[in-house]
Amino acid sequence: MKIFKSYTFEAAHFLPQMPEGHPCRRIHGHSWKMELHFDGELVLPYEWVIDFHEIDSVVDPIYKILDHNFLNEVEGLENPTSEVISIWVWNKIKEQLPALCKVVIYETPEAGTEYVGE
Ligand SMILES: [Zn+2]
Repeated sequence: MKIFKSYTFEAAHFLPQMPEGHPCRRIHGHSWKMELHFDGELVLPYEWVIDFHEIDSVVDPIYKILDHNFLNEVEGLENPTSEVISIWVWNKIKEQLPALCKVVIYETPEAGTEYVGE
Protein backbone atom coordinates (compact mmCIF):
# COMPACT_ATOMS: atom_id res chain seq x y z
CA MET A 1 0.00 0.00 0.00
CA LYS A 2 1.25 3.45 -0.81
CA ILE A 3 0.17 6.63 0.95
CA PHE A 4 1.22 10.24 0.64
CA LYS A 5 0.95 13.53 2.44
CA SER A 6 1.46 16.90 0.82
CA TYR A 7 2.43 20.30 2.19
CA THR A 8 2.78 23.74 0.63
CA PHE A 9 5.20 26.37 1.76
CA GLU A 10 6.27 29.83 0.61
CA ALA A 11 9.97 30.54 0.36
CA ALA A 12 12.51 32.64 -1.49
CA HIS A 13 15.71 31.45 -3.09
CA PHE A 14 18.22 32.07 -5.83
CA LEU A 15 20.70 29.81 -7.55
CA PRO A 16 24.20 31.19 -7.01
CA GLN A 17 25.78 28.85 -9.60
CA MET A 18 23.81 30.44 -12.43
CA PRO A 19 25.49 33.17 -14.52
CA GLU A 20 24.53 36.83 -14.13
CA GLY A 21 21.41 37.49 -16.20
CA HIS A 22 19.89 34.03 -15.69
CA PRO A 23 16.45 34.48 -14.07
CA CYS A 24 17.25 31.91 -11.35
CA ARG A 25 20.24 34.03 -10.30
CA ARG A 26 17.90 36.75 -9.04
CA ILE A 27 16.23 36.37 -5.65
CA HIS A 28 12.63 35.28 -6.19
CA GLY A 29 9.95 33.28 -4.44
CA HIS A 30 7.91 30.17 -5.11
CA SER A 31 4.82 28.59 -3.67
CA TRP A 32 6.49 25.22 -3.23
CA LYS A 33 4.63 21.95 -2.85
CA MET A 34 6.18 18.97 -1.13
CA GLU A 35 4.76 15.46 -1.37
CA LEU A 36 5.99 12.69 0.90
CA HIS A 37 5.23 9.14 -0.25
CA PHE A 38 5.33 6.04 1.92
CA ASP A 39 5.25 2.35 1.12
CA GLY A 40 4.22 -0.30 3.63
CA GLU A 41 1.86 -2.99 4.81
CA LEU A 42 -1.41 -2.20 6.52
CA VAL A 43 -0.91 -2.13 10.28
CA LEU A 44 -3.64 -3.87 12.26
CA PRO A 45 -5.95 -3.11 13.93
CA TYR A 46 -5.75 0.40 12.42
CA GLU A 47 -5.66 -0.77 8.79
CA TRP A 48 -3.37 2.07 7.79
CA VAL A 49 0.29 2.32 6.82
CA ILE A 50 1.25 5.24 9.08
CA ASP A 51 -0.73 7.66 11.19
CA PHE A 52 -0.87 10.89 9.15
CA HIS A 53 -0.50 12.79 12.43
CA GLU A 54 2.78 10.99 13.08
CA ILE A 55 4.02 12.20 9.68
CA ASP A 56 2.96 15.75 10.59
CA SER A 57 4.82 15.62 13.89
CA VAL A 58 8.07 14.61 12.15
CA VAL A 59 7.61 17.12 9.31
CA ASP A 60 6.58 20.07 11.49
CA PRO A 61 10.11 21.19 12.51
CA ILE A 62 11.30 20.77 8.90
CA TYR A 63 8.30 22.71 7.63
CA LYS A 64 9.05 25.56 10.03
CA ILE A 65 12.58 25.79 8.61
CA LEU A 66 11.29 25.98 5.02
CA ASP A 67 8.15 28.09 5.23
CA HIS A 68 8.49 31.88 4.82
CA ASN A 69 12.23 31.58 4.82
CA PHE A 70 15.16 32.44 2.56
CA LEU A 71 16.31 28.96 1.61
CA ASN A 72 19.89 29.94 0.74
CA GLU A 73 20.46 30.76 4.42
CA VAL A 74 19.40 27.27 5.58
CA GLU A 75 22.30 24.92 6.35
CA GLY A 76 22.54 22.43 3.50
CA LEU A 77 20.47 24.55 1.12
CA GLU A 78 23.09 27.03 0.01
CA ASN A 79 22.31 26.06 -3.61
CA PRO A 80 18.57 25.37 -3.23
CA THR A 81 17.52 23.67 -6.44
CA SER A 82 14.43 21.47 -6.23
CA GLU A 83 16.79 18.52 -6.48
CA VAL A 84 18.84 19.65 -3.47
CA ILE A 85 15.69 20.40 -1.45
CA SER A 86 14.24 16.93 -2.12
CA ILE A 87 17.47 15.24 -0.95
CA TRP A 88 17.66 17.56 2.08
CA VAL A 89 14.07 16.70 3.10
CA TRP A 90 14.72 12.98 2.58
CA ASN A 91 17.82 13.09 4.80
CA LYS A 92 15.97 15.01 7.52
CA ILE A 93 13.05 12.59 7.89
CA LYS A 94 14.02 9.15 6.50
CA GLU A 95 15.43 7.91 9.82
CA GLN A 96 12.26 8.76 11.74
CA LEU A 97 9.93 7.63 8.95
CA PRO A 98 11.64 4.59 7.38
CA ALA A 99 8.63 3.82 5.16
CA LEU A 100 9.42 6.99 3.20
CA CYS A 101 9.90 5.96 -0.45
CA LYS A 102 9.75 9.22 -2.39
CA VAL A 103 10.02 12.97 -1.89
CA VAL A 104 8.47 15.15 -4.59
CA ILE A 105 9.18 18.87 -4.70
CA TYR A 106 7.15 21.13 -6.98
CA GLU A 107 8.89 24.43 -7.66
CA THR A 108 5.93 25.50 -9.79
CA PRO A 109 2.75 23.57 -10.62
CA GLU A 110 4.49 22.45 -13.83
CA ALA A 111 8.07 21.76 -12.72
CA GLY A 112 9.64 19.72 -9.97
CA THR A 113 11.68 16.73 -8.90
CA GLU A 114 11.23 13.27 -7.45
CA TYR A 115 13.83 11.70 -5.16
CA VAL A 116 13.63 8.05 -4.18
CA GLY A 117 16.89 7.71 -2.26
CA GLU A 118 20.30 6.68 -3.51
ZN1 LIG B 1 13.28 29.45 -8.32
